[in-house]
Amino acid sequence: MVSESAHVVIVGSGMGGATLAWGLARRGVSALVLERGRPLPRERENWIPEAVFLDRRYKPEETWLDDDGKEFHPGVHYFVGGNTKVYGASLPRFRERDFEETVYPSGISPAWPFTYADLEPYYGQAEALYRVHGTTGEDPSEPWRSSPFPYGPLPHEPYIAETMARLSAEGLHPASTCMGVDLRPGGSCIRCQTCDGFPCRLGAKSDAETCALGPAVSGGSVRLLTGARISRIEVDRAGRVSRLVGDLGGEPLEVIGGAFVISAGAANSAALLLASRDDDHPTGLANSSGLVGRNYMVHNNTHIAAVDMRRPNDVVFQKTMAVNDWYHDLGDGYPGGSLQLIGKVQGSMMKSHATRVPRRMLDRIAHRSVEFVVMSEDLPSVHNRVTVDADGRIQVSWRRTNYDRHEALLATARRALRKAGYSAIFEQRFDISMNSHMCGTAVAGRSPSTSVVDGLCRTHDHENLFVVDSAFFPSSAAQNPALTIAAQALRVAEQTDWNAVG
Ligand SMILES: Cc1cc2nc3c(=O)[nH]c(=O)nc-3n(C[C@H](O)[C@H](O)[C@H](O)COP(=O)(O)OP(=O)(O)OC[C@H]3O[C@@H](n4cnc5c(N)ncnc54)[C@H](O)[C@@H]3O)c2cc1C
Repeated sequence: MVSESAHVVIVGSGMGGATLAWGLARRGVSALVLERGRPLPRERENWIPEAVFLDRRYKPEETWLDDDGKEFHPGVHYFVGGNTKVYGASLPRFRERDFEETVYPSGISPAWPFTYADLEPYYGQAEALYRVHGTTGEDPSEPWRSSPFPYGPLPHEPYIAETMARLSAEGLHPASTCMGVDLRPGGSCIRCQTCDGFPCRLGAKSDAETCALGPAVSGGSVRLLTGARISRIEVDRAGRVSRLVGDLGGEPLEVIGGAFVISAGAANSAALLLASRDDDHPTGLANSSGLVGRNYMVHNNTHIAAVDMRRPNDVVFQKTMAVNDWYHDLGDGYPGGSLQLIGKVQGSMMKSHATRVPRRMLDRIAHRSVEFVVMSEDLPSVHNRVTVDADGRIQVSWRRTNYDRHEALLATARRALRKAGYSAIFEQRFDISMNSHMCGTAVAGRSPSTSVVDGLCRTHDHENLFVVDSAFFPSSAAQNPALTIAAQALRVAEQTDWNAVG
């Protein structure tokens, strides 16, 4: 048995865990980060689309089950830095209204237990930490800010600039994206085509290992244990967490500490709490509300490839523009969502979905297409949930919610793109396996009967147990989640009295 101890023990080194570790290091609080994965190697395959998308080189073998017991490969990556090692580094803030109750025709997006103003200073800190490039004054939905973007926006390549001019001519307000890449003066980013969805061979993407965990560990007060998979949380009779158990590269592992933070990602954090049931907590830990694992959200997302056969797309770094004109109002009084460019899709990447289409045809389309994600809010539902079977295997029950809004946003986006000259539009709707934006399985709230954690991510049921990752989101908004996870991790690090907890 390997035994470890630390004042604060963090399970998982993704956006939540790594940023929390950085926030603790800044305060001089000692912490141990337990990560089931290893550092993602910098290697040739990082930038080979076939290796990343067809061979799934960086995805685990693990499969999860859907409602019918059918296996699927989830969109998770078990490495130091978690999913941020491959993410698209699009790092927008949520809007003020995303923290308030919003009524949709088919349901309600609930209020958060804190406001945008409460999180705003930490958004600024997270943008500095993750080297966010952006600008103000272009996006009609942008929230107020008390500090400027640390770095100016990424310039648009000519093809994108022309597309923006076409959309502007329709009365829309295409705006620069908020991107976390190292394009500072002298920075290491080379604006390549293999960013969104790929690991960065140069360490130029602002992932959680590069920007937060690495600096925290080199400061000396944070330690990292890789290959350390936690399978159970144990509590004493008073309800305090007493130790974690798991394995370290095949050896049994136990970890004791003062405070314990679960940051294993929305599905794995819920699974760990549920799998830790005991006689006093027969439905799992932190689960007196019965809500652990429930309210699983993923965003309603569709990838679009818009094709203009007359205009070859020679762009290299495509992800520089978003359209948020419909974010607050789609024209019918209800929110729509956002339209964002994604990294340039290559024919070989299309092959993983369009398996029957000949590669030459996919290359031809890719040469003339520009790709977007259409993103709208899904709503929390207690029926959408993560559970674990007797072997600890994850099962996901999931039905789309609020999808009428997504259809309406898609129709609006299609119209705008057709007007801009894109005569053919191909769509790929996200299915259960495309859960990269998952959240909500341990929602934050004020009341222990309707939420799992409080506004500072401490579980209502166990005073020294926290959940700091996307699981705490009470709603999903319609913007990419990572900056909000990071900002909240910094807020939790700063506003929690770690001496009193541990
Ligand atoms: C391809 C892709 C593109 C994306 N693009 C964007 C984007 O552009 N912008 C954006 O905002 N978001 C994006 N995301 C989503 C973003 O990466 C996630 O929202 C974010 O990383 C979630 O942070 P987290 O801390 O909740 O979990 P994760 O980052 O997934 O971290 C969880 C960590 O816990 C570890 N772990 C799990 N279980 C255990 C255990 N039992 N014991 C020990 N360790 C464990 C995992 O290995 C992992 O390192 C993207 C995701 C993907 C997959």
